[in-house]
Amino acid sequence: MAPQDADVIIIGAGVAGLTAARALTRAGASVLVLEARDRVGGRTLSQPVGGDVVDLGGQWLGPHQRHALRMVEELGLKRFSQFHRGTKVLEVRGERRTYRGKVPSLPLLSLLDLQRNIWRLDGLARRVPLEHPHTAPGAAEWDALTLEAWKQRYVPSWGARAALDIATRAIFGAEPGELSFLHFLFYVHSNGGLMPMSQIENGAQAERIEGGAQRIALRLAEPLGARVVLSAPVRAVLQEAHGVVVHGEGRSWRGQYAVVATPPALAERMDFGAELPAARRRAHAELPMGSVIKVVATYARPFWREAGYSGEAVSDGGPVRLCFDDTGANGHHPALVGFFLGETARAWTGRPAEERRRAALECLARLFGPQALKPTAYADLDWIAEPWSTGCYVGLPRPGTLTAIGDALRTPCGRVHWAGTETAIEGCGYIDGAVESGARAAKELSERLRHVSAELTGVRT
Ligand SMILES: Cc1cc2nc3c(=O)[nH]c(=O)nc-3n(C[C@H](O)[C@H](O)[C@H](O)COP(=O)(O)OP(=O)(O)OC[C@H]3O[C@@H](n4cnc5c(N)ncnc54)[C@H](O)[C@@H]3O)c2cc1C
Repeated sequence: MAPQDADVIIIGAGVAGLTAARALTRAGASVLVLEARDRVGGRTLSQPVGGDVVDLGGQWLGPHQRHALRMVEELGLKRFSQFHRGTKVLEVRGERRTYRGKVPSLPLLSLLDLQRNIWRLDGLARRVPLEHPHTAPGAAEWDALTLEAWKQRYVPSWGARAALDIATRAIFGAEPGELSFLHFLFYVHSNGGLMPMSQIENGAQAERIEGGAQRIALRLAEPLGARVVLSAPVRAVLQEAHGVVVHGEGRSWRGQYAVVATPPALAERMDFGAELPAARRRAHAELPMGSVIKVVATYARPFWREAGYSGEAVSDGGPVRLCFDDTGANGHHPALVGFFLGETARAWTGRPAEERRRAALECLARLFGPQALKPTAYADLDWIAEPWSTGCYVGLPRPGTLTAIGDALRTPCGRVHWAGTETAIEGCGYIDGAVESGARAAKELSERLRHVSAELTGVRT
């Protein structure tokens, strides 16, 4: 047998792959993490802009995200609250409205319709079993339906429809017509309900990490040292009788097992030989990534706060469709962060950076005032154009896919195990799910490795 490079070869140095590496190392296994990019962190990326570090990828944590919170605690990272005091802006059907508190400024009938449907959707979501969403009562019917089709059938008022569209784009980076209704319900259940996902206070946008969310991956990678190999895109993961051979560009690595910790859409580009069942192949082919461009503009003064705004805005027009205050910890370095989402992200991907900048700033000016046109610094990241992500926040099963693939997202294929936020039961799509999935894959493999070493030493487990 050829000498092996590690017990477990992990593909992808995002939060999921690195969480798996840490847990396996702690369990006594040797690991090697292969990363295509020249950095760790994957869909988290924190960079200096305007004198402070800002997040161009994953950013917020919420109180219900227990896996991520525990990890952040263990890594000794500090969190701070997202600013949310003041007036919010809602731009819908070309009209700019403002409101305070949690109830958007919509007609009363629309608000009643919206509340009724939030309850209804949360209730339906709780009926989707998190480990096996395809076994939910009505799964086939729900999976054949898009969220858009469900909305047309059950949501009569224009205001509730608009609010659902806005929330869907903000949460998924996709249009309601692209989403399987079953997957929508699974995702809502996996992340604690529609309101917690949409809100700042007690919601998924409650807190940020000092120094940026990429610090999670950077801290995880530190003790692994040379066990993390950067600029090493994996092309093939092939299985042999006693192990796996992972092929990169011009070199290969051997291990007993592999963990693929990339989004399924990126696994689609790897060769797995003849080992993958049809359902797994379908999972790779039919979970395209959402569409998001994230923009950050920094300012000399927090002019929106001074005018009484919280910095939170949503718009059904865009191109910035969602916006928050992005000022640093302790109120230093005033900034706004915005998102092009769904079709507006697709309309702007690949366009000249200067045109995109102008469009983003003009939109912020419409939402908060003309001072937005004069940032001290500006940065954006077109995630659709990122070759090792091809979009974000997360891979989205097409209608019909979840019921067709069954348990394939998590079921190991021989010596190959799967991690990544797309495979998470809790916190799917978020950093929380990345941590959960990495820990789960590590647990699966520590058990297998324990059996192997027990067999070798003759000890019964
Ligand atoms: C703009 C944006 C905003 C977001 N906002 C939030 C938020 O506020 N809160 C939150 O919790 N989550 C947020 N998310 C989602 C969150 O960032 C992700 O869920 C999480 O980071 C996913 O981690 P992962 O390890 O599963 O996958 P990834 O981070 O995608 O890691 C996979 C890694 O695999 C590598 N890779 C791919 N193909 C190969 C290959 N062939 N060979 C070797 N390596 C390969 C990639 O380069 C990448 O580093 C956001 C994401 C984005 C992009």
